[in-house]
Amino acid sequence: MKNENKTSHGRVYGSWMIRSNLWVLSNGWQNFQYLLVGKEQAVLIDTGYGEGNIRSVVEEITPLPVMVINTHGHFDHTGGNGLWQQAWMGEASTKDCKKAFSQEQSLKAASKPYPNYETRILTDGATIELGNETLEVMTIPAHHDGSIAILAHKNRLLFTGDEFESGQVLIFKQKTNPEFLPTIQRHLANALRLLNRSSEYDYLFPAHNGYMLDPDRYLNDFIHLDQQILNGTAHFQSDTAGFNYPSDPVASGSVFGKFGRQKRVFYGAASIVYLDDVSDASTEVTVR
Ligand SMILES: [Zn+2]
Repeated sequence: MKNENKTSHGRVYGSWMIRSNLWVLSNGWQNFQYLLVGKEQAVLIDTGYGEGNIRSVVEEITPLPVMVINTHGHFDHTGGNGLWQQAWMGEASTKDCKKAFSQEQSLKAASKPYPNYETRILTDGATIELGNETLEVMTIPAHHDGSIAILAHKNRLLFTGDEFESGQVLIFKQKTNPEFLPTIQRHLANALRLLNRSSEYDYLFPAHNGYMLDPDRYLNDFIHLDQQILNGTAHFQSDTAGFNYPSDPVASGSVFGKFGRQKRVFYGAASIVYLDDVSDASTEVTVR
């Protein structure tokens, strides 16, 4: 029988243990799914693009029932949902969680056992009991309207999806879009809220590029960066090059290029890429 998790160039997923109850599952694209195992049930945070069969990887690790949670509705976090009958997420994620980025992904999603899986909503403050661990949901919309952070109280970890990460936070709105500044204001408010609770966790676990980030350093740097974007003093670099990010997404034909011209601004460890309208050429943002 064909093994869905093996290809001519190796395994689809790598999985490794951070603690006896916490695993990272990765498809090699710096895309991290986390499996946190309690005494009574496990939680899988995000399901990747939908390659292979991530459920079978999960079931090799734990025999417990698994609750699937998506940090937000982008398809690189929801593509494997259809291997389960239901997936939990923030309300706004229910609108796009089944929208694949490509036809190839669409076909893969359609071939899963539950392509029309049920979406269940997690609201701000919701708690989930895993047995010997309680998760708390905090809504943190900015990169995506449906983003949630998940605080694992006993393990003292905070899962932040694409809202706070080490590579770049993507805000795919034009700077002239009336929603641009309110989105940055929300990102700032979310960072302040999470920082206010940083005594309750030791590390941030984002969905891309790196994990076990220092919360105080990252959140403070994002707070500075958001404030600088809001007051027009953010530093930017001449191209958008970053870890796993092309220097010119449009010219290079990158998947990120379809959104148009982009700009990367940064402060310390924090970096944000947003859409840069042509009318933004005389930007007030200053070069370092
Ligand atoms: Zn995303």
